[in-house]
Amino acid sequence: MYSIRKKLGIILVACSVIAIVFSAVLVNFTINRTFNKYVSANQVERNNRIVQYFEEIYKRDNKWDKNSGIEITKEAYIGNYCLTLSDNNKKMIWQMNLDTLKPGKHQMMDGSNQGIYNSQTFEIKNDNKIVGYITIGQFSSIILSDADMNFRSSINKSIVLSVLITLIIVILISIMLSKQFSNPIKEVSDTSVLLSKGKYDARSKTKTNIIELSKLRESINTLGEKLEMQDDLRRRLVSDISHEIRTPLNILENNLEAMIDGVFTVTDERLESLNDEVIRFGKLLENLNIIKELEAEDATLKLETINLEELIESVVKDFELSVKNKNMNLNLNYVKENNYKVLGDYDKLKQVFINVLSNSIKFTNENGLIIVDVKENKNNIIVSVKDNGIGIKKQDLPFIFERLYRGDKSRHETDGSGIGLTIVKKILMLHNASIEAQSEEGKGATFVVKFNKA
Ligand code: ADP
Repeated sequence: MYSIRKKLGIILVACSVIAIVFSAVLVNFTINRTFNKYVSANQVERNNRIVQYFEEIYKRDNKWDKNSGIEITKEAYIGNYCLTLSDNNKKMIWQMNLDTLKPGKHQMMDGSNQGIYNSQTFEIKNDNKIVGYITIGQFSSIILSDADMNFRSSINKSIVLSVLITLIIVILISIMLSKQFSNPIKEVSDTSVLLSKGKYDARSKTKTNIIELSKLRESINTLGEKLEMQDDLRRRLVSDISHEIRTPLNILENNLEAMIDGVFTVTDERLESLNDEVIRFGKLLENLNIIKELEAEDATLKLETINLEELIESVVKDFELSVKNKNMNLNLNYVKENNYKVLGDYDKLKQVFINVLSNSIKFTNENGLIIVDVKENKNNIIVSVKDNGIGIKKQDLPFIFERLYRGDKSRHETDGSGIGLTIVKKILMLHNASIEAQSEEGKGATFVVKFNKA
């Protein structure tokens, strides 16, 4: 097994080596071909020049002898080619010594023809009549001069040098690049290992400008936050449930003991208060049971088309007395002609608005105002319940829909178990609907419920 960094490094270097070697070979090949063309063109020019030279010699002397044009042999020795002059009957007049040529230098750039002597014969004309022949021979079809050879080898050296420099640069870049990829991935992987070991405060810190890696980092951090929050809730849930159960039990136990011991006289009032505790206790268990049922995978709804404004109106009516008792105003607004039909379970949706409205009444002081607005747009029906009560602290807002979460108990000694909104959220989820809370502490709270239209 390789680390991602090593693997990426190997892949990058391997790809670059292949690309560099391939382009070096291609460049070398192209340069050689062009260079060969250039040298052969030079050679053709040279041949024409030699033929022209002998034609002029003949024009001047009108005959051939042993010294005709012999001066050119100096150039031929230097140029490493061999000349043979013949008359119009192909009888040799003079010939350079073949042994003086240096075969080692006779090579094509691609190495072919090396050492194989080949020659070409050209006609020498005077007044359009053939007066002789000049044969030019050499050990390869292309002869490279010293300057040519130097040029060729310096090009090859530059190619090798640039390959080496490019390789070093590529290796450095691939080390840096693979680091850019591997560091954040390694950190995310380390974070996930820590999370799996129960260290929920572990977070990935290395930032990256690679979108996918940045998303990966964000999601592992969100996962960490969620796990931390869930862990926190789980702990609180256990302690809250035991607290919620212990409180009424203690009250019952103490009071009953006191009555048995004769410390308290048994009065109707005392019995009623104890009965209230038993009822509260029973309600808590009942609510926990409702949550359990709503969370069950086979939770079912009795679906029917519901006129939401009618349902809410009936809930508002149910609260008339409590509103009156607190001298509050509860306004319900909707447009009669509009269509507020949703598909849902009547009893469960009624429970939703009972819980939300009862909270608004509970957390709003006397003379307060509660406004319920039912609105619609193209796809949704939106119900908002707004009060001007004590509001919700900013740090409590994200948790109020969690089980047994009760915002800042010291602020309100009102009864409740922190289950109402959990039930609301679960019922709405089953209806593909959503709920959101907005609030400013001291200024009231607004709950917005959004349904899809039936
Ligand atoms: P309970 O009302 O039984 O405490 P809920 O789940 O209904 O539990 O509500 C959770 C918490 O949300 C409450 O304890 C309270 O702090 C806060 N809350 C809910 N509705 C309101 C509201 N209208 N105004 C202020 N706080 C609210």
